[in-house]
Amino acid sequence: MKSFEVPIIYRSPLITAVKNKRKEMDKMKKDFTPTLLDFGPVRIFLARHFGFCYGVENAIEIAFKTVEENPGKRIFLLSEMIHNPQVNADLESHGIKFLQDTYGKQLISFDVLNADDVVIIPAFGTTLEIEKKLNDIGIPTEKYNTTCPFVEKVWNRSEAIARNKYTVVIHGKPKHEETRATFSHAAANAPSVVVKDMAQAKELSKYITGEKQHAEFYTEFADQCSPGFNAEGDLEKIGVVNQTTMLASDTQSIADFLRQVMADKYGSENLNDHFADTRDTLCYATNDNQSAVSGMLETKADLAIVVGGYNSSNTSHLVELCEKKLPAYFINNEEKILSRKDILHYDFHTRQEILTSNYLPHIEPVKILVTSGASCPDAVVEAVIRKIAGYYPLEKTPEELMAHFK
Ligand code: SF4
Repeated sequence: MKSFEVPIIYRSPLITAVKNKRKEMDKMKKDFTPTLLDFGPVRIFLARHFGFCYGVENAIEIAFKTVEENPGKRIFLLSEMIHNPQVNADLESHGIKFLQDTYGKQLISFDVLNADDVVIIPAFGTTLEIEKKLNDIGIPTEKYNTTCPFVEKVWNRSEAIARNKYTVVIHGKPKHEETRATFSHAAANAPSVVVKDMAQAKELSKYITGEKQHAEFYTEFADQCSPGFNAEGDLEKIGVVNQTTMLASDTQSIADFLRQVMADKYGSENLNDHFADTRDTLCYATNDNQSAVSGMLETKADLAIVVGGYNSSNTSHLVELCEKKLPAYFINNEEKILSRKDILHYDFHTRQEILTSNYLPHIEPVKILVTSGASCPDAVVEAVIRKIAGYYPLEKTPEELMAHFK
């Protein structure tokens, strides 16, 4: 895979050494066991895959190059380029301003823009409506576009579904930038509707089976269906695509469920005429990182620490997998580890940061699983590891461990 120029401050010598060694020993990416960093009284089990993905590195490279290439120009980002607070803050410190927040709320009016301005499209892509608005102002949207190719792949898949006259069902978080962008692209070609989870997929199915009156659909899915959606005719042929960062098992269950609903209604022999049978559109990083967490969870441990932005969809799914098995702490940087006793961490169910005491059990060796989301710099993960390790009298330093992987 292509390598990118990413500021060195995001890299971690320790984690780069580990990743390179694992890559060299497992070129086909078949081994999902974690890597042990054995400090003696504390053992860190690092997931096989985590951290910056292709799309994030591509976006960071383009954003910093844009700053270099445009001295004196006003540079804007449509919204957070990726869901990582440190990277976004670094971009702001280089003078880049954000036009919208992560939910699409306007922070700076488009009215202040002019044709001399540069606007960077984030890795999640954007809606056709926003692209048009920028183009109408005279701002081109191709040159500084960091849309991840794996997101564009979802748009292409929904176009293919639309070409065959199927309605596009998008499994994604309705307010997430990527899902809003995918919805806009899908809706330009076919009737489209977003379902956020299995509960909503089940409600949608009731309009297919006739359990619910079609009229109710327009209230229930008011903000999640394309203009002019016809709940009667537009649910006779459907195909499913997903936001690239959903939980693989959820995505599979929803597709299987809707396939069965169509088979029950129209008969298995006619299924292909009513359900576009395509593979999921999760990206490689989502698959690798989730498989690596499943592999990591095979190791008996005391707790898990997951590092990433609190609004990062892919990171929250890694937490979801971990918390089924053991206490899992979702933090966005090492500063959230307040002491050996206290940790401030994010509960994505209630969307609040909470304080937990005695998160490190009084046993030795304590075993900790560690991973991070696709937008989290490895340097932050290393800082987390060093902070935890610093609470113990180490038998080996991080540098000694690093030498072992070189
Ligand atoms: S998580 Fe996947 S889709 Fe999102 S930027 Fe990374 S590679 Fe692209």
